[in-house]
Amino acid sequence: MTRTTAAVMASGRDAYREIPLYSGAHGPALPIDLSDNTNQWGVPPAAARALASLSPATMARYPAAYAPALSEAIAASAGVAADMVVTGCGSDQVLDCAFRALADPGSRVAHLAPTFVMVPSAAHANSLQPVAIPWRAGGSPDTPELAVDEEALLAVDAKIIYLCSPNNPTGTFIPPAVIERIAAGASGVVILDEAYAEFGGWSAVSILRRAPRLIVMRTFSKAFGLAGLRIGYALAQPAIVREIAKARGPYALSAFAEPAAVAALGEDMDWVREKVGLAIEARERLAAALREIGGYRVYPSAANFVMAVPDVRRLPDVMAIAANLRSAGIAVRTFSDLPGIGGALRITVAPWPLMSRLIDALPRPDRP
Ligand code: PMP
Repeated sequence: MTRTTAAVMASGRDAYREIPLYSGAHGPALPIDLSDNTNQWGVPPAAARALASLSPATMARYPAAYAPALSEAIAASAGVAADMVVTGCGSDQVLDCAFRALADPGSRVAHLAPTFVMVPSAAHANSLQPVAIPWRAGGSPDTPELAVDEEALLAVDAKIIYLCSPNNPTGTFIPPAVIERIAAGASGVVILDEAYAEFGGWSAVSILRRAPRLIVMRTFSKAFGLAGLRIGYALAQPAIVREIAKARGPYALSAFAEPAAVAALGEDMDWVREKVGLAIEARERLAAALREIGGYRVYPSAANFVMAVPDVRRLPDVMAIAANLRSAGIAVRTFSDLPGIGGALRITVAPWPLMSRLIDALPRPDRP
């Protein structure tokens, strides 16, 4: 570090030194990218038409400050009032803003581990203290199961409890009754990240009315196929939504994102439902194929990805497997050591010809 860099760093926030810069899985782009859980079946057609019809002059103007047309469209499709919706530049931003607005520095954020990697980072970035509660592991090697330790989660007495269902990276679906009990028993707010809810078949939007502490977070990046436009939102009681909106500030949604998302909600729902159906079919087929190959613990998934844990006594470790896949032009997400699980591969589902290429490129286990 040069003296100038050291001097600049000395004026930075101490908490930031410990925060890793998100690196994701993106090295050089590969022909088949199964690393980021985006929609592998293309883009929603009405959203694409809406984007194409925008005048280039759109670039020179600010968008509406709080994307009211999109809030109205989301509210109508979710069956809630528009003042129960706050949008943002991806649900990443909505999560960050909720952490900032809803807990004073130093407060605890309780979350299950493993879960979405951004959660501890977003907590530290807002001077909050993440408290990780392990999933309760059960089931057999063939059908591993993860359950929520409700007592331990509530015992943290956190200002914010973060839950993710279906959970990234495990795919675990948290039963509605568990969500309801946690929302009823929490002393602070409960953020339920539903980035993958379309693939799980149930959304807690249906219980918002009787769960005043619940915040449901959704995104257009996965089932809706609009990750590049960066659109996420939260649904909650108006008083909570207002605080998150203050942290978010104006103009977070670009002048291109809002009309595309409005068009998608209005005219692309059949497309979304069809692709979700295909993703679920591919997920079940991929899980069955991995079990058939043997040597992988395959976690039951309610999302558009499958997590597989290779048995290191019979298969190479995840880094070696991923390197092999990369040389076949396929990117997957790797986790070198998930708590309670070990090295894992997270594979986004895609049209079957791509899944076949992945399956062919995976190593086969030595006999037990
Ligand atoms: N939550 C979860 C669980 C995710 O997996 C992701 C994306 N990887 C996000 C939130 C962020 O999504 P967005 O693109 O809306 O920022």
